[in-house]
Amino acid sequence: MCNVTRRNLLLAAASASGLTTAGARTQPRKPAAASEVNQVDPVAAGVYFHQGDIENAGHCNNGWIIFKDYVLVIDANFPSGAQNILPKIRALTPKPIRFAFDTHHHGDHAYGNAVWNDQGATPVAHTGVIEEMKRYETGHYGGKPGRWEDTRKERPDVAASRLLPPSVLFPHELYFDDGEHRVELLHLGVAHTHGDAVAWLPKERILFTGDACVNGPYNFVADGNVEQWIGTLDAAKKLGAKIVCPGHGARGADTVLADQQFFFQQLREQVGALLRARKSPREIYQSVGQIRGELVSQAKIARYVSADSLAAQVEKVYTEMTGHAFPADAKASKSARLLHARAHALQLV
Ligand SMILES: [Zn+2]
Repeated sequence: MCNVTRRNLLLAAASASGLTTAGARTQPRKPAAASEVNQVDPVAAGVYFHQGDIENAGHCNNGWIIFKDYVLVIDANFPSGAQNILPKIRALTPKPIRFAFDTHHHGDHAYGNAVWNDQGATPVAHTGVIEEMKRYETGHYGGKPGRWEDTRKERPDVAASRLLPPSVLFPHELYFDDGEHRVELLHLGVAHTHGDAVAWLPKERILFTGDACVNGPYNFVADGNVEQWIGTLDAAKKLGAKIVCPGHGARGADTVLADQQFFFQQLREQVGALLRARKSPREIYQSVGQIRGELVSQAKIARYVSADSLAAQVEKVYTEMTGHAFPADAKASKSARLLHARAHALQLV
């Protein structure tokens, strides 16, 4: 490990603990538990976080853990995201990258699997990821073109790669433990998709959440279930994390889990109140602006409100509560979904 890396590690430890060190004084202090886009963020000894550039490249966040004999990467990212962090890992260790853990099936988390595989790594995921891929990656499984085929039209990195579903699968949990590091991959329930899993480091109390928890206006709800998501976040909170590494947005403390959960609780509260007031589907659709105002006024969750995707989130909650969609002519909802999906390079099918 080079000096620069050791120093970064000290800075990160100081930042995470709220302490200062002699080294930390030479640089302006980052706010506690923050991270910066495209910067290697040492979270603990041998444990790294990397905040992906979602705005310009659609990249997800990554993590990696350097075990005694190998490296485990958290999330495969898009192929270009994998290629972005590969040299950053190589600058830290010559150890083989053996596993790439897909927190879920979305392209920005799993389409880079082949890049890692070319390095000798095997993609690992909860069994639900394969079930989701069979649902949406129909082209790969011999059916009509699916999300991969749609995405490759817009992303040259995807067009130049191949879809590689994970081949090491776990139905509930899978542990990596070499006595020094322990990483528990856990399926805690339905959340952002039906196949989410998290990476929990009990010794350091660090949780890599995938998109089951984000830190900013990045909630894409079409493939999951908001009501169950709230319960799954309860299970995540019970782990007792001190540091939360979300699927998108900056690294944070345990409060990120609570804020994410509160956003969904408030969203359901708002839609529920309109239903109790016997508002029609059209009236609820027309209330999206009002709901937005209510959510933005709450400091804890204002950062989760996205002008692009709130209508789709409201419709999702409405559908979960009633079994019905918004009126067919409420096209704004669909175009908002499409816009937001494009931002994540997700194709709606
Ligand atoms: Zn996702």
